Amino acid sequence: MKKVLFVASECAPFFKSGGLADVIGSLPQYLKRTGECEVRVILPLYKDLNESYRAQLKEEMVFQTQVGWRFQYTRILSLKLNGIMYYFVDNMHYFSRDALYGYGDDGERFVYFSNAVIEFIYRGDYKPDVLHGHDWQAGAAVAICNIKKPVQSIKTVFTIHNLKYQGLLMYDAFENLFNLDRIHFAGFEWGGMLNLMKAGIFHADKITTVSPSYSEEIRTPYYGEGLEDLLNMRSRDLVGIVNGIDVKDYNALYDKALAVNFKSSIDKKHQNKCALQEQFGLPVHSDTPLYSIITRMVEQKGLHLVMRIMEEFVQNDIQLVIMGNGDKEFEDYFKYLEDKYRDKVIFYRGFDEQLSRRIYAASDFFIMPSKFEPCGLSQLIALQYRAIPIVRETGGLRDTVQPFNEITLDGTGLSFANYNAHELLDRLNASLKIYKDDYQYKALIKNITKVNHSWDDSAEKYLKLY
Ligand code: ADP
Repeated sequence: MKKVLFVASECAPFFKSGGLADVIGSLPQYLKRTGECEVRVILPLYKDLNESYRAQLKEEMVFQTQVGWRFQYTRILSLKLNGIMYYFVDNMHYFSRDALYGYGDDGERFVYFSNAVIEFIYRGDYKPDVLHGHDWQAGAAVAICNIKKPVQSIKTVFTIHNLKYQGLLMYDAFENLFNLDRIHFAGFEWGGMLNLMKAGIFHADKITTVSPSYSEEIRTPYYGEGLEDLLNMRSRDLVGIVNGIDVKDYNALYDKALAVNFKSSIDKKHQNKCALQEQFGLPVHSDTPLYSIITRMVEQKGLHLVMRIMEEFVQNDIQLVIMGNGDKEFEDYFKYLEDKYRDKVIFYRGFDEQLSRRIYAASDFFIMPSKFEPCGLSQLIALQYRAIPIVRETGGLRDTVQPFNEITLDGTGLSFANYNAHELLDRLNASLKIYKDDYQYKALIKNITKVNHSWDDSAEKYLKLY
């Protein structure tokens, strides 16, 4: 039985800002089911923990964590949920704040977190075989685990969920926050600063990314975010394992949020569409094709392409529902579009999990033209609700959506290669044709019904890696 400790900064159902929390919340369950692996998870204890979980927390240990020349109070709490043991690092100064991230001292917060994790392993009875760190917030934990003698025998895996966010610190943080010999400085240094993502990649025994395509892409300057040389140097130990989703949770047949449950029935899917049209005050027409976008509104998600061509596409007899929040530029654009095309476009600013499920179920097509996409979960969720994904062929989108072939009738979505707005428009226009062609549309939905994006295959791959 392999003992693996996940070190991560978020995890559903406790704390979530995006896809990372879904992965940390679901993968341990599937690894457990293999019968050959026991995963525990260690997280910061943020302020916003649901009261029912908080009441169940058990104190495991209290100690002082050395952070440079200072000592910081650390309390480790634990909670068992659905057979998985979760540990929480409690320090009010660093983590009892309103948001998970976005503070000037984020780098310091997660170096502290990493030091505390290593101290916890060193002092306690629980000794994992593998420390598996996720994203830059766990980069220092991987590095320290590799360097410090008492824990050095533990193997390390580092997973890149998104290379864009790297965790940068001023170079003097090496003296002030770490307790490492100066000889190790080079493993952290990047462009005159410290880079925690680099430290994880540099030190880990094995490195993974969340899709095979992304693991290739990040070795090039376009996607490498400045770390491509290091990633090429370490390519022998770099693998891509595609994310799965919890297919019992995201399931149109059982999901209580939907107006009507369904598996592949197009009639029942249309009933969900009519229910959503009614809810949003759109004209209720079951055969008007409904498009949707559900996303964090950042440049990564390809929203500049949408901005360039959507007004032209909206001239067709379609409806468009957008849900999300983020950069003002995008929010303002979707508000403008909604105001101008009141009978066609709805913009829900913010994110509502239950409503998002109703939108997926109501949508005929789901638009996700990302500039880069490490894996992407939204397109997988869309497939689960029989919303046909329209994606750019990058990263996990390329690995999980097969372009529909109008002759052979193979494929599960529509896709385009280049980051170009008119390639997106071309695929949107093609989707309208498919929608009107009963034969093609039914074949495409049938293909989607057959795909399985559960964690089972990927969990086996992680197990082999461990
Ligand atoms: P990313 O992690 O880059 O945001 P993914 O597609 O990997 O994108 O994961 C998206 C996850 O976040 C899904 O669980 C989705 O339901 C949720 N989500 C989508 N849009 C938002 C949003 N605006 N705010 C918060 N969560 C969102």
